[in-house]
Amino acid sequence: MGRLNGKRAIVTGAGQGIGRAAAELFVREGADVIAVDRNADALSTLSGCTARVLDLTDTAAIAAFGAEVGRVDVLFNCAGYVDAGDLLATADAGYRLSFDLNVHAITHLLTALLPAMIAGGGGSIVNMASVAGPVIGVGNRYAYCASKAAVAGITRSVAVDYVGQGIRCNAICPGTVQSPSLDERMAATGDADAARAAFVARQPMGRLGSAEEIAALALYLASDESAYTTGQLHVIDGGWSMA
Ligand code: NAD
Repeated sequence: MGRLNGKRAIVTGAGQGIGRAAAELFVREGADVIAVDRNADALSTLSGCTARVLDLTDTAAIAAFGAEVGRVDVLFNCAGYVDAGDLLATADAGYRLSFDLNVHAITHLLTALLPAMIAGGGGSIVNMASVAGPVIGVGNRYAYCASKAAVAGITRSVAVDYVGQGIRCNAICPGTVQSPSLDERMAATGDADAARAAFVARQPMGRLGSAEEIAALALYLASDESAYTTGQLHVIDGGWSMA
């Protein structure tokens, strides 16, 4: 018996990384999954899901998606962007994209989908935050920390306002997780091996997390197994923030 049997789940950023691992896991657990990403090629290699190409920075396109989608039991807002730089090194474009994708896209998706979730008797919203911002400060990540802290605020606000209507809303706060975009960030430093060693060195467990480990937490929060938790930040970071 799948833990998401009979549930309709939307996963954003499902083309690669954590979102992809979650979409695949949700399918294995019996969900009817709508996999959302702007990258059509990446979605085309995902099996068992309904693929929906969508640019989450396009507010009108999100509204159109909401109007067509119907019943929703689970929404995993996983798509995100990591901007590099401290405050003075942060360019306006990266700052704006950080908020457009990491924050405003969640607000717009919730606005579009929450009424159907409530009408269906409730549901589980899982927002992708990070330890960076909501839990600890991380160097050279001004826009990222600021935008992920906003995700924590969204999570608590929605949880408080809609708990009486069967809505749960939790956030996941990972440490550093192996993913295609992490590989790109390491390569962009000019010395990927040194960058990887530095990322690993700050993880007390001595390794990076895997997308599958984060997807397992997303499954728990999406499913009825987590029926008694809402409004919480769920940290999964190899012990990075424990001290
Ligand atoms: P990733 O960055 O490798 O992939 C992100 C996916 O989102 C891609 O498939 C991309 O096409 C899609 N996407 C990007 N912009 C989009 C847009 N405008 N519209 C629709 N889709 C878009 O995946 P990841 O590294 O696993 O990160 C997933 C989430 O987890 C992000 O929110 C990230 O901030 C968060 N996170 C990641 C780590 C990590 O170390 N990898 C740590 C903490 C939190």
